[in-house]
Amino acid sequence: MEQNGNPEPDEGARRTKIIIVGAGMAGLSAAYHLTKNGVTDYRILEARGHVGGRIVQIPIGSERVELGANWIHGVLGNPVYELAMQHGLVDIVSPPKPHKVVAATEQGKQVPFAMLHEIYEAYLCFLKRCEEYFVSQYLPPEGIDSVGEHIKLEVNLYLDKIKDPAERHMRELLFECLLKRETCISGCDDMNEIDLLEIGSYTELQGGQHSAAERVQFHSRTFEEVMEVIPSENLLTRHPVKLIKWNCNRKSNSEDSDSDDSDRTVIESPSSSRESSCEKTLKRHNVEVICDNGKRFLGDHVICTLPLGVLKHCAGSAFQPALPDYKREAIDRLLFGTVDKILLEYDRPFLHPGITEVLLLWEGDPDGSDDVGKNWYRKIYSFAKITETLILGWISGKEAE
Ligand SMILES: Cc1cc2nc3c(=O)[nH]c(=O)nc-3n(C[C@H](O)[C@H](O)[C@H](O)COP(=O)(O)OP(=O)(O)OC[C@H]3O[C@@H](n4cnc5c(N)ncnc54)[C@H](O)[C@@H]3O)c2cc1C
Repeated sequence: MEQNGNPEPDEGARRTKIIIVGAGMAGLSAAYHLTKNGVTDYRILEARGHVGGRIVQIPIGSERVELGANWIHGVLGNPVYELAMQHGLVDIVSPPKPHKVVAATEQGKQVPFAMLHEIYEAYLCFLKRCEEYFVSQYLPPEGIDSVGEHIKLEVNLYLDKIKDPAERHMRELLFECLLKRETCISGCDDMNEIDLLEIGSYTELQGGQHSAAERVQFHSRTFEEVMEVIPSENLLTRHPVKLIKWNCNRKSNSEDSDSDDSDRTVIESPSSSRESSCEKTLKRHNVEVICDNGKRFLGDHVICTLPLGVLKHCAGSAFQPALPDYKREAIDRLLFGTVDKILLEYDRPFLHPGITEVLLLWEGDPDGSDDVGKNWYRKIYSFAKITETLILGWISGKEAE
């Protein structure tokens, strides 16, 4: 068993039925379901010194703050929500705290609420129209391929009706702010990167969003519940995987050699009682996983939960044989953008007690230089209150990098 993250001495290759690569929510969830179904012959290999991946929590003052995942998106059919409910982490009795949003310009001028409401409603309508292309027979206007282009087209038509330049400008800034917010939701740099015909294929689970605001440490608490079920000796941290050899048992000229098990249900019959343990050990393994530290792990199956960003970087060298073409193409073509959270802590309450979020209406780059290094902060679309002295901003894309 690993103690304090230090690897045990190498006794040659270790064998388990299943090897799980990565101890983020996906890897831990796989381990949780295996354990709940009576399978404990697995090992989790995690690169970092801690588990959780993009679910990570830190203390700030007396608060514990989620640096990564925070919201549970949707209720119906959402396994994360079900898990949180089972362990009493969702408060469905207390009414949600009121959310009071204001929008302000760089000069500190506050936008009238009626205008904010009007633009928000119009924006939602423009976004909905983008989603409809996926289900309808209609084609978008010629030359309009992305969500960003389509929304801008509708925004321009909308703004053309407003004659007063100041009123028009304020609305324009509001639309720009909402588009920046959308890039954080979509995980992209610019909404022009999002395919117009496909955005409607994304379905949101019904039931609204649930956040740490209802019950602090929501995601981290959910994942702590998962961890309780997983035997600690099955987890090895500080084991970055560098090579996954799979299909070791398949004949190289087999018809199926270009395929894997990920789209199939793997059913195994229990091994014959007459088979000796020695015979079982001698059976050839189907999977071999090699770590940066030289350790080798053998197994029958591998569950790979490497994030898309890591796969983009290493999928070409990390698998032997190489992944099938359709998987490599999917890894290349899927977008994986950067989204960061920025937390600001103050000694004294910063925002007015009645306000929970301020939308930031930045003018264009002051020097017109497009210099991301200098003007990156103008991509932050809002600051929202976590506590009276702690506020949170989101930023995406090049500016976040
Ligand atoms: C700022 C931010 C906010 C978010 N907010 C939300 C939210 O509100 N709601 C929501 O549902 N989702 C949110 N997400 C997304 C959510 O966090 C992720 O979808 C989810 O945590 C991904 O889990 P995962 O197990 O697939 O990947 P990860 O959590 O990335 O886990 C992958 C694991 O693999 C490990 N690993 C990497 N390389 C190797 C290697 N070579 N060998 C071994 N291990 C390796 C990593 O260290 C990591 O532990 C947010 C993400 C971010 C970044």
